[in-house]
Amino acid sequence: MGARIVILGGGTGGTLAANRLRRVLHDDVQIVVVDQDDAHVYQPGLLFVPFGLAHLDEIVRPRQRQLHRGIGYRQVAVDRVDLDTERVWLNDGTALEYDVLVVATGAVLVPEETEGLTGPGWMEKVFTFYTPEGATRLHDALEWFDGGRLVVDVIDMPIKCPVAPLEFCFLADWYLKELGVRDRVELTYVTPLDGAFTKPVASAALAGLLDEKGVELVTEFNAGEVDGPGGRLISYDGREVAFDLAVVVPLHSGAPYVGRSPGLGDELNFVPTDEHTLQAKARSNVFVIGDAANVPASKAGSVTHFEGEVLVENIRRFLAGRPLDATYDGHANCFIETGFHKALLIDFNYDTEPLPGHFPGTVGLPLLKESHLNHLGKLMFQWFYWHSLLAGRDVPGIGSAMPERGKHEEPASS
Ligand SMILES: Cc1cc2nc3c(=O)[nH]c(=O)nc-3n(C[C@H](O)[C@H](O)[C@H](O)COP(=O)(O)OP(=O)(O)OC[C@H]3O[C@@H](n4cnc5c(N)ncnc54)[C@H](O)[C@@H]3O)c2cc1C
Repeated sequence: MGARIVILGGGTGGTLAANRLRRVLHDDVQIVVVDQDDAHVYQPGLLFVPFGLAHLDEIVRPRQRQLHRGIGYRQVAVDRVDLDTERVWLNDGTALEYDVLVVATGAVLVPEETEGLTGPGWMEKVFTFYTPEGATRLHDALEWFDGGRLVVDVIDMPIKCPVAPLEFCFLADWYLKELGVRDRVELTYVTPLDGAFTKPVASAALAGLLDEKGVELVTEFNAGEVDGPGGRLISYDGREVAFDLAVVVPLHSGAPYVGRSPGLGDELNFVPTDEHTLQAKARSNVFVIGDAANVPASKAGSVTHFEGEVLVENIRRFLAGRPLDATYDGHANCFIETGFHKALLIDFNYDTEPLPGHFPGTVGLPLLKESHLNHLGKLMFQWFYWHSLLAGRDVPGIGSAMPERGKHEEPASS
């Protein structure tokens, strides 16, 4: 009998890790993926749903169908992990024993952690597009919204895809102009950060774009309360932002079962993980991929994809008793939709912030600059996601390490 590999989570990371492991380790291992439901959502597509540019039936597929032959699938929630006995307890009372455990259970939204957010007004004038239900309800609300204060608010970091709320602002500007009501809408972006984004060069470029599109930027605003009926965001330091329609990105945490698994997680239920090898700090036979890890990389599908290569190599080395490969560099790569059929592209890692230039080399897609080509790249990504990324294939010419060539040190010209 080969080594037993149990993968918790059948989303982006769990699926691509399982398919890569199957290909690399063939029948030498038994692989079982566990997920609580059968709806694999292409989450970047949620951004487009409120604007009628995507529908749920186009972005949701069954989970098991994304797994290659020979990979087991259990559809049941994980209750807890017992690191000492190397067992995963499932909600149906059964347990799975493992030799290697892969944690790929992502991040969950915890809107109930913010006072008032899920109270009166939730899904009536306060929405999120971070869930399929929220994105659909917001689509209905935007259809009748023809003027007033539209506020987009990030409650606090970390969040999945930190550029998505900015993209929402840019698309809202485009959408409202298309409807001919933009001049009747005050559009505001509210963030806990001290700028539009975390890294200085990209932050300046994105703040410039917000300004160009007439979106007011409110920084260092930590919303402690949402007053739906009164239409107010209230920060911990007593400031207020008024809204008629609020689009909120709620607090995120790791999956709750992590908190029920002694020694596995931190206080937010994310899993302490070596940022270069992707091995969990708790045990040498536990590895982590994607949003579940507490590594200082973006919580993004692209990060999850790039991590896959190193993760699978390290599981192979671990099983063979060889030293691990410590080369994951935090590589992240995101298209930022800016409306009017254009997008920016950013590419960065733990050490290098997003810089202007080209990707993946001196010729290629423009970085930190709006272009139609980047917009086409963003649209094509969905096909790539289902057919290549989840299948665990490499992209020719693009490895997991961030390419240095093509990037310029000077700030982007406006
Ligand atoms: C609105 C939005 C836009 C985005 N846009 C982009 C983008 O443009 N580019 C980009 O790179 N990334 C984007 N992302 C982020 C990207 O989708 C995630 O980073 C990526 O899916 C992370 O993969 P993961 O495997 O870690 O988590 P997921 O894909 O979320 O998978 C986690 C899985 O674990 C399962 N699970 C959790 N708890 C349990 C349990 N107790 N028992 C069993 N199963 C459990 C869940 O059901 C889920 O299937 C976006 C995300 C959102 C929400």
